[in-house]
Amino acid sequence: MQKTVSVVIPCYNESEVIDQTVAEMLQVTQGIENYQFELLFVNDGSADDTESKLLQYSKEHDNIHLISFSRNFGHQPAVSAGIQASTGDAVVLIDADLQDPPQLIDGMIKLWEQGYDVVYGTRENREGESRFKLASAKWFYRILNYLSEVPIPLDTGDFRLMDRQVVDQLNAMPEKHRFIRGMVSWIGFNQTSITYKRNERFAGETKYPLKKMLSFGLDGILSFSVKPLKLSIVTGFISSGIALVMLFYTIYIRLATDQWQSGWASMLVAMLFIGGVQLISIGILGEYIARIYSESKDRPLYIVKKDIKQPRKDDESDLD
Ligand code: UDP
Ligand code: MG
Repeated sequence: MQKTVSVVIPCYNESEVIDQTVAEMLQVTQGIENYQFELLFVNDGSADDTESKLLQYSKEHDNIHLISFSRNFGHQPAVSAGIQASTGDAVVLIDADLQDPPQLIDGMIKLWEQGYDVVYGTRENREGESRFKLASAKWFYRILNYLSEVPIPLDTGDFRLMDRQVVDQLNAMPEKHRFIRGMVSWIGFNQTSITYKRNERFAGETKYPLKKMLSFGLDGILSFSVKPLKLSIVTGFISSGIALVMLFYTIYIRLATDQWQSGWASMLVAMLFIGGVQLISIGILGEYIARIYSESKDRPLYIVKKDIKQPRKDDESDLD
């Protein structure tokens, strides 16, 4: 029996690139012998004609499967939907904008055949992205790695191949704030990486504006670390320590000198500092509580409006 590899491609307003992406995916997968490929496009509530284009492709090609959301739920839910619907012995996650070269899939499959359960792509360099994006991504991965309880590979996105074993574990994790690259690290098994040069987006612009980037970054840190909570304890101790020193200092000033009226400025600074530390700590607490709240509501991660899968030839014969 031939093995099947599912390729999951999240798409949000990708009308400008989608024709090229479908063409390249088909070409690359047809060039890899001895495997069946299932191309799973997840339309994440696009407002343009991404959906109708994909619908057409799914009619033309037996192995193109389209899942369409009822609205925009975000990149990680889109990827999760694809992973959940996948049937392959291995699943590849790849962006729709051709920033992650599909040509690497062949190499990933070879490493998988050598016994690796996860093969992830590490970016050697990134072309055509703003300096702000480069710097913030670089620092984000380093801070995340420092804070996280499991090591999360640096400069690594969701572009990866995962064995069915890993995929089943991932699907069994019920959390709503999904930070997939971290969850895969947490799952473990035999993981390895291949480095690649990240291309410029083929067309269109990034679907990750600053706001989405920040909430994604926050998800990464808060889902994989409770160190921010400890941080507020540490800053609490430090500021109380400073306050204690100040206390002795004022007593000394009052008893040993006659300049004791002055000092309101330092009072104000100390008050503002402590107030700031308290607000930050409450904010951190609030973020974790908000997460408990949203997990406890237990709403579905996404809502599927359409699920179009052409029956495969061998499936049809099963029905007779
Ligand atoms: N994406 C999505 N939903 C969103 C935002 C992005 O499905 O709400 C998809 C997008 O279509 C692309 C992938 O996620 O296939 C990565 O997004 P993008 O290329 O815009 O991010 P960047 O590469 O700029 O970080
Ligand atoms: Mg991109």
